[in-house]
Amino acid sequence: MTSTEYLWNPPAVASLPVEGSSRRLPINRLFFVGRNYHAHAIEMGKPVDKSVERPFYFTKAPQTLVESGATVPYPPETANYHHEMELVVAIGRPGFRVQAEAAHELIYGYACGLDMTRRDLQLVARDKGRPWDLGKDVEQSSVCSAIVPMPGRVLEHGEIALSVNGQPRQHSDLDRLIWNLREIIADLSLFYHLQPGDLIFTGTPEGVGAVVAGDHIEGHVAGVGRISLHVGPAE
Ligand code: MN
Repeated sequence: MTSTEYLWNPPAVASLPVEGSSRRLPINRLFFVGRNYHAHAIEMGKPVDKSVERPFYFTKAPQTLVESGATVPYPPETANYHHEMELVVAIGRPGFRVQAEAAHELIYGYACGLDMTRRDLQLVARDKGRPWDLGKDVEQSSVCSAIVPMPGRVLEHGEIALSVNGQPRQHSDLDRLIWNLREIIADLSLFYHLQPGDLIFTGTPEGVGAVVAGDHIEGHVAGVGRISLHVGPAE
């Protein structure tokens, strides 16, 4: 058997710790649901009418993944870096054109996530009809806690909250998701062949806001766990 020879060592596979296991979960893709809580959609000036709209998505490179507890530098080219607290679903089985009733079969487990966002650049892109990448695909902006295995289980409710320096900023419940986990997995699987190691950040509730260097973010999702991030000085 011949092994592939590269010009230089390829980058390591992005991965996350798994609670109760010494083995890590290798990451495939990072999907993000846009505007999936009504109160957040309204604060962004874009209310959602589920009867006539479908969910929408964006992606970030797996290289943007950072583990909970990290310190990340305040990113370049923004003056409005926002926290978005989210429930993350880890996909453990492949699925394409999955029925909502069968969507639970793809679920491996859950984590707490932060979808850190250059809000100033995202809004410029949104309003000019440009891609969101510079606002969303920020280096070290996809923060995730250890994966908690709950194979086949669908979370339908539970507190989701975030504080900055101990001050409450975001507070809601998973039962306020506009498109629930079954609907998201089924809809996303119409566009993508979902694969083990895909993570779905399911959207943020209201209360998003700016952080500055020196801030300490803490969040939790009931029944899943906690997440934290320290924002360091800009490089
Ligand atoms: Mn988000």
